[in-house]
Amino acid sequence: MSTPTDTQRMEKIVSLCKRRGFIFQSSEIYGGLNGAWDYGPLGVELKRNLKNYWWRVMVHERDDVVGMDGAILTHPAVLKASGHVEGFSDPMIDCRTCKAHLRADQLVEKKGVKQCPNCGGKDLTETRQFNLMFETHVGAAAEESSIAYLRPETAQSIFVQFKNILEVSRKKLPFGIAQIGKAFRNEINPRNFTFRSREFEQMELEYFCRPEQGMELLEYWKEERLKFYENIGLPSSKLHVLTVPDEERAFYSKGTYDIEYEFPFGRQELEGVAYRTDYDLSQHHKASGKSLEYFDEETKQKFIPHVVEPSAGVDRTVLAMISEAYAEDQAPNDKGEMESRIVLRFHPRMAPIKCAVFPLLKNKEPLVVKAKEIVALLCPDMTVFYDESGAIGRRYRRQDEIGTPFGVTIDFETLGEKDPALRDTVTLRDRDSMKQERVAIQDLPAILRERIR
Ligand code: ATP
Repeated sequence: MSTPTDTQRMEKIVSLCKRRGFIFQSSEIYGGLNGAWDYGPLGVELKRNLKNYWWRVMVHERDDVVGMDGAILTHPAVLKASGHVEGFSDPMIDCRTCKAHLRADQLVEKKGVKQCPNCGGKDLTETRQFNLMFETHVGAAAEESSIAYLRPETAQSIFVQFKNILEVSRKKLPFGIAQIGKAFRNEINPRNFTFRSREFEQMELEYFCRPEQGMELLEYWKEERLKFYENIGLPSSKLHVLTVPDEERAFYSKGTYDIEYEFPFGRQELEGVAYRTDYDLSQHHKASGKSLEYFDEETKQKFIPHVVEPSAGVDRTVLAMISEAYAEDQAPNDKGEMESRIVLRFHPRMAPIKCAVFPLLKNKEPLVVKAKEIVALLCPDMTVFYDESGAIGRRYRRQDEIGTPFGVTIDFETLGEKDPALRDTVTLRDRDSMKQERVAIQDLPAILRERIR
């Protein structure tokens, strides 16, 4: 089912991302490289917060999952065995009129005739398969034997290292191996900002189990993964589970669903969860001639484990978080007049900057000294931004626009000039309610830690 699109909202988001340093077009000063993006100072913080939280929940808070970090350059034999060399392709059609390369499912059909979505041209080539993998050469000689691929998913290095990791971690089934890293696909039409890129990051878990546990674990991961998205600020009302119909599923999968989010450009996939049976391990077991079997000490049986794979996209989730956070509302300026403001309502756990610190006036030395002491106090626990320039209302607004959830202001009361009882207290402002509370400086680290964890 499609959801209404909101082009205007998307344009505002893209422009804010550039203006405030979340995401830039890659190689922009040379005209840009299609399908590649660079994350700026705020984007990289947001992305790290997401990856760290995924790692925390999927690896550190569980005793049945270990991590790994595999190489991007991949031996062709790995991707031959997995089926990627032969079959990792999209059907492609060219428009002879405007020369566009199109994915076959992007053609529009009018009165039963297929047309190019760009120019309406009807002079189209036959469909041919276009392999999405990036090929490169390792070493000085560019010949057949030197071919390697940039991995199209992180999963294969997990399967190939299954035996090594099983031995060193001494885990018993069911257990998982997790990885976060870059993947590359030469997408025919990169689009929707970072949503479909040629270089992107994945967060993948391969959760190995006994054959009879597969279907049950497929369900188990649905709840876990939906909870994860809610915990990073994507409301359940905008998350949807789409069961992939039998005819669209990979032939080796016994069940697959996508977790989708309502982006401004429509409902689209954030993560795919697939029960891949024992397909991958069996393929590598056969092709490498090395045993990838598991020995069950209780039953004394040897078998190739099955696997359930929750595979999420970092960039797509970052885009979902920004899309969800973007809001426009009314806030009072320094004169108390209402003005419109742009605010990113990130979950505090995900916000790139957690706390901004403002001395009320920049030319009052004791206020500045105190403010810098507070920055030093908070820095080990969180990202902090110090800002002394401009009217305080303007400073709040700048932080609202990048989603900083908390602002601390150091005023004359902090210095104890008006009321000695208020010495060494500051105001703590909440981005969303804009309410301010007075708290003791010494309590700040604990209060903020609790709200951002
Ligand atoms: P799609 O159908 O959108 O092409 P897919 O089903 O091929 O995606 P998977 O192979 O299941 O994707 O990859 C798992 C996850 O990796 C996706 O859910 C998505 O979050 C991310 N991903 C895949 N391709 C891209 C891409 N081109 N750009 C950004 N993220 C991607």
